[in-house]
Amino acid sequence: MNHGLQPYQLEPRRRRRRRRDVEEIEGLDNIVAHEGEDIEWRKVNKEEWCQCGRCELMDTAVECLCCREIENVRAKMNIGSENEMACILDHFEFEFVCLHPAVIRTALVARTDIRRDSIVDPIPNETFRLQAYRQFTYWVHDRLGKAVRRVIPACVVNKIRKDFPSIDGNYVGFKEVE
Ligand SMILES: [Zn+2]
Ligand SMILES: [Zn+2]
Repeated sequence: MNHGLQPYQLEPRRRRRRRRDVEEIEGLDNIVAHEGEDIEWRKVNKEEWCQCGRCELMDTAVECLCCREIENVRAKMNIGSENEMACILDHFEFEFVCLHPAVIRTALVARTDIRRDSIVDPIPNETFRLQAYRQFTYWVHDRLGKAVRRVIPACVVNKIRKDFPSIDGNYVGFKEVE
């Protein structure tokens, strides 16, 4: 029987997930974090792990990861071919995908819309920053992933932080991203 309701009105409204400010980034599909491997040396010895020349020492050892250490990133950088780049930051798509405010805002609108919410301007830098991390992960790995940790290279994290700085100078690290 038709009560004049439109189908969408009958759909149960999905309960909004409690917003978690800090969610672990997923994925690390290679290197580092081999179970039990001691990686603490990374926090003091950047020369031993950064080959792109653009990374900085990070707060935790697991974040001390160079773009040239991640298989999918290396593929994007054409490592091993004539036109290989030194750092993923040199990839012309990086800026469009991960730093362009209109691109990031549009992705945030889509993400918010899927959650049946609407975006509120002005969007805080933190929100831009977290979305920029997601964009990087989507760009490189084609998915955000759930099961495994996916670390964003230090050069990329630092560049995104420079473009979307935290007001108080505090960053949660790679665990910032959902
Ligand atoms: Zn590096
Ligand atoms: Zn790099």
